[in-house]
Amino acid sequence: MAELLVLGSAAGYPCPRTGHASYLLTAGGRQILVDAGEPCSRRLAEHNLYPSTLDAVFLTHGHADHTGGLPMLLQTAIILERAKPLTLVMPEELIQPLVQWLEATYAGPSVSTFPMRFVAWEQQPVFEGFGLRVMAEPTRHLEYLRKKSALPLHAFSLRIAVEGVDLVFSGDLGGPEDLDNQLTVPVELLVCELAHFEPKHLFEYLARKPRIRRLVLTHLAARFLDREGELVARAQHLLPRTLTVVAEDGLRLRV
Ligand SMILES: [Zn+2]
Repeated sequence: MAELLVLGSAAGYPCPRTGHASYLLTAGGRQILVDAGEPCSRRLAEHNLYPSTLDAVFLTHGHADHTGGLPMLLQTAIILERAKPLTLVMPEELIQPLVQWLEATYAGPSVSTFPMRFVAWEQQPVFEGFGLRVMAEPTRHLEYLRKKSALPLHAFSLRIAVEGVDLVFSGDLGGPEDLDNQLTVPVELLVCELAHFEPKHLFEYLARKPRIRRLVLTHLAARFLDREGELVARAQHLLPRTLTVVAEDGLRLRV
């Protein structure tokens, strides 16, 4: 049985008690981190977990609320004298600057106690390993920045097949329709952001899709904070066959 532990559920602004996007997936003795918003290493320690045992880190995109905890995570692994290789999968444009950033914080491959293997979603849109099959699909989340930047900018949603079920992590979206290719089959769990579109739009969209057994709303826009009960009630009205919860740090779900 797999387990999802929410390490951070905040969106792109600081919240007093909530960490930024980071989720630990444990299945078959493997540990996978999906996004590494800070303070993911502290959150792991709060659960008596440490990055010495992680198998892989999957990054959906480069925004700091999804990557800001990575140097501290790797520094911790180095201090713990981790020896096991670590696989880091991310958008292609992120790899080179991220390695430079890690080197600048003395947590990069040149000083690490363990090998780091960097993989681009673009090169392996279907990533298999660690008992998982991961399908990465581009989203429109960064389109607004593409007009300003000469760099190619990519964000991905992830569908992870593990132990006979499918889990979908939306990452950040341009809109719910970005999940079209991920929601072609029933899924056990959808972890979906709610910072970039209206809840009604999401719930009506999901109602037209194959069944989603559980929906975890996360990365909530500021206007939805303290309205969690209202959000769940609206979801239940439009998605009566889906069990909906709002993510909070420390939430554990068996899948
Ligand atoms: Zn983002």
